[in-house]
Amino acid sequence: MKKIASLSITFLALFLVQCSSVPMSDRSQLSLISNDKIFPMSYDQYEQVKKESKIITGTEDARTVKRVGTRIQRAVEQYFADQGQANYLEDYRWEFNLIDNDSTVNAWCMPGGKVAFYTGIMPICKDELGVAVVMGHEIAHAIANHGRERISQQYAAQFGLSAVSILLTGGSGPTVPTEIIMQGAGAATSLGILAFSRKHESEADKLGLYFMAMAGYNPQEAPKFWERMAENSGGEAPPEFVSTHPSHDTRIADLKANMPKAMEYYRKSQ
Ligand SMILES: [Zn+2]
Repeated sequence: MKKIASLSITFLALFLVQCSSVPMSDRSQLSLISNDKIFPMSYDQYEQVKKESKIITGTEDARTVKRVGTRIQRAVEQYFADQGQANYLEDYRWEFNLIDNDSTVNAWCMPGGKVAFYTGIMPICKDELGVAVVMGHEIAHAIANHGRERISQQYAAQFGLSAVSILLTGGSGPTVPTEIIMQGAGAATSLGILAFSRKHESEADKLGLYFMAMAGYNPQEAPKFWERMAENSGGEAPPEFVSTHPSHDTRIADLKANMPKAMEYYRKSQ
């Protein structure tokens, strides 16, 4: 009896190790694979996307994407440092690029902080504040490790407990196929990629609102941006941003519910 009990406690303890909590939201998430494994693959994949795309440099839009990205990155790093958790972001290698593609109304962030905006989203962003809304949301996906969570879920679904037990017994762990990394990034449909779940989108909305505010961008711009996005989609939603998202009304209501906290961060940043 006693042995069985202690064995199951050991198993439970090991299993709990495979979960992490999402910063600023206290949600527990499955994490079967470490960022040590995911980030290098993500970085390779990002280089590949850069090679295959036309990266815009030297325009005002390209500079804005880099400026806003860097500003939010620094604000988030400052926030984690203030919480005594600077090491949480140690392995992130942030990069912010604008890709020439007017027909793709999208942006994404791969695990570890590799961001891409398509030129198609810039008219809806309209200005620097609009870019900050999207940037905050994308950075939030990376900080909350949504890619890793989805890779873990897919892995658990595909291989079940055998994969988990390999990891628990100290095996080298699974090799993650490239397409799973790309799906983990929630990248564009033009690449044949799945979008994030509603739960992840809502979480990215909330954290994104806080992050833009910490960087000194007025979070009250966020509902306005999503209004423009909804009008633009005219019922036919671009995947990352609308189809898996909460309904437009729910999203606006959620943003408003999170606004007082976001405004606190905004005032502190001023
Ligand atoms: Zn998203």
